[in-house]
Parts: sequence; C-alpha cells; structure tokens
Amino acid sequence: MTNRQRPCDPASGDGPTSATDPRATCRIVTGTPVAVGTSANTIKCQGGRLVVQNNNSGPDRECTQRHEEQHKRDWETRYGPDLCVGVTNGHLPVGGDGYAEFLRQSECRAYQVGKSCRQTLLATASAADRPLIQRAIVRDDAQLGSNSCT
Ligand SMILES: [Zn+2]
Repeated sequence: MTNRQRPCDPASGDGPTSATDPRATCRIVTGTPVAVGTSANTIKCQGGRLVVQNNNSGPDRECTQRHEEQHKRDWETRYGPDLCVGVTNGHLPVGGDGYAEFLRQSECRAYQVGKSCRQTLLATASAADRPLIQRAIVRDDAQLGSNSCT
C-alpha cells in the first residue's frame, strides 16, 4: 500500500511530494489499526469498509453524522479508499507521518461542519431541544479553539 500514488489533495492534510510540480502526487499513508470504543461517536472499519458509528440519539444526531462523515472523507483521502480491507471490525487505521497535524485539520473541518449543522437546526428546533443544541455548539466552539482552528 505504501507505494501507491494518487492525485494530491491539498485539503487532505498531507503535502504534495513536490511543492513545485503541479502534477505532484501524494503518497497514501499506511495506518496502524487500533480498536475504537463502542460508545464513541467515531468512524471505524466494519466488514472491510469505513463506516460511521453514531451513538448520538439526541435532536442533533444528524450533526454528529456530518462531523463523522467529514472524518470519513479525510481518512479515505489520507489512507486510501481500501483502508479497511483486511482490518478487524471495530478498528480504525491511525498514525503515520504528520498524523497529529492531519488529525487537527480533520477535527477543525469536522467541528465546523457540525457547528454549522447545529446553527441551522437551532432555527427550527423546539424550545425543549434548544438547550441541548446550544450546549453542543458551545462544545464545538471550545474544540475549534483548542484545536487552533482559524
Ligand atoms: Zn472529530
């Protein structure tokens, strides 16, 4: 898997192999599968495919889904579309060169997508649901701050 190349996507968090070559390709990163908790909202490998595990049963469930779907896109870009082939169910490939920065950028995109979703939801939410959605937006803002998102 380490020798395969793909068109470079600047949004993926890993850089082109050549900063000056417009046809530059990005190397697909090989991750190390680790087990994810069953109670987490996350992405994971299941049946050889990358899927979202969404345990949010609240009124903003769809926004958690969008957050995790952003991670799914970022993981597939970094680790390649076959990243779950042969991986144990409930595990997720992580790590590799530049992982901390990749994760930071992915969280920035994911929390921004989730926050936008909740702001839209808030406009039509019932009075009973609003406090929970508001608290989730405060949480999203805190995460955008702690991840130094711009
Ligand atoms: Zn996340």
